[in-house]
Amino acid sequence: MPVEIKDPHLPFAFFQGEFVPTQDANINIMTHGLQYGIGCFGGIRGYWSEEQETLYVFRLRDHFQRLIDSCRILQMKLRYGLDELVGHVLELVQRNGFRGDSYFRPFVYSSVHRLTPRLHDVDHEYALYSIPLKDYIDTTRGLKVVVSSWRRVDDDVMPTRAKASGAYLNSALAKSEAIQHGADEALLLNRDGHISEGSAENFFMIRGGVLHTTSITDNILEGITRRTLLQLAAEELGLKTVERPIGRTEVYVADEVFLCGTGAQVAWVQQVDGRPIGDGRIGPITARLKSLYLDIVRGKVEGYRDWLTAVALSRTAAVR
Ligand code: PMP
Repeated sequence: MPVEIKDPHLPFAFFQGEFVPTQDANINIMTHGLQYGIGCFGGIRGYWSEEQETLYVFRLRDHFQRLIDSCRILQMKLRYGLDELVGHVLELVQRNGFRGDSYFRPFVYSSVHRLTPRLHDVDHEYALYSIPLKDYIDTTRGLKVVVSSWRRVDDDVMPTRAKASGAYLNSALAKSEAIQHGADEALLLNRDGHISEGSAENFFMIRGGVLHTTSITDNILEGITRRTLLQLAAEELGLKTVERPIGRTEVYVADEVFLCGTGAQVAWVQQVDGRPIGDGRIGPITARLKSLYLDIVRGKVEGYRDWLTAVALSRTAAVR
């Protein structure tokens, strides 16, 4: 089941060039970004360490680089550079003073109020908010995954390399179908029948001791967690890794399957289309990657501290 989040926002957001109460960060109903879904966004996690009184934000610059790349694909003008975007997050953390695991949602949207969906001759706005977030999906048990009847949009239909707002209709169709059929998550196929990804996660499987994932030309979002796990699997587990097209029934005979993403982290898959994966328990490689990943994001592994931006919060930090 998806994790229910009730009234989740933190008090301040960055909106139209300033920090304002989140409840006042609202847009006009005529806005292009809302009418046509013309926008792009990011999703970033911060992990709270009570001992250090510090929030560790994972691969912050890499997430903003992807947002900048999304803007290039969608011809969006982002008025802030990488350092400023990072600076807004640091200030937001201090202003909100929230001492717990957090999620940051930066986004850029077309802010004009006229008809005609288009990319040219429009204005853009940038906004950032944050919410408390623990699990996005329940990763304490194995996921039930079903292959979706909705195909993944092709990169030449809707750019999948951009984290484009409107393209999430494709994710929503697949996710709801999966949940409404009693599963936890969807696996989307490309038009050619090969695996693309989950509704908000990249796909991995282990076959014959080799870690496989779909290639970046398979209409996937180039996930930062995917990139992280590929590196860790090779460097820390000494695994051979392969990025290639993956057939549907290969998944049924895989030894281990997991999905990954900023939200999902490392989520092991217990069954696909009613077929148990491996022996129906979390596999050894998935378990090792999961615990290594969770240790790294929480600042417990010295060698990967470079991936973390540490934001120390003192008890008096919150400006309310
Ligand atoms: N694919 C899609 C469609 C996603 O929405 C996400 C979540 N951002 C991912 C993959 C995983 O990307 P990341 O690891 O960068 O969060």
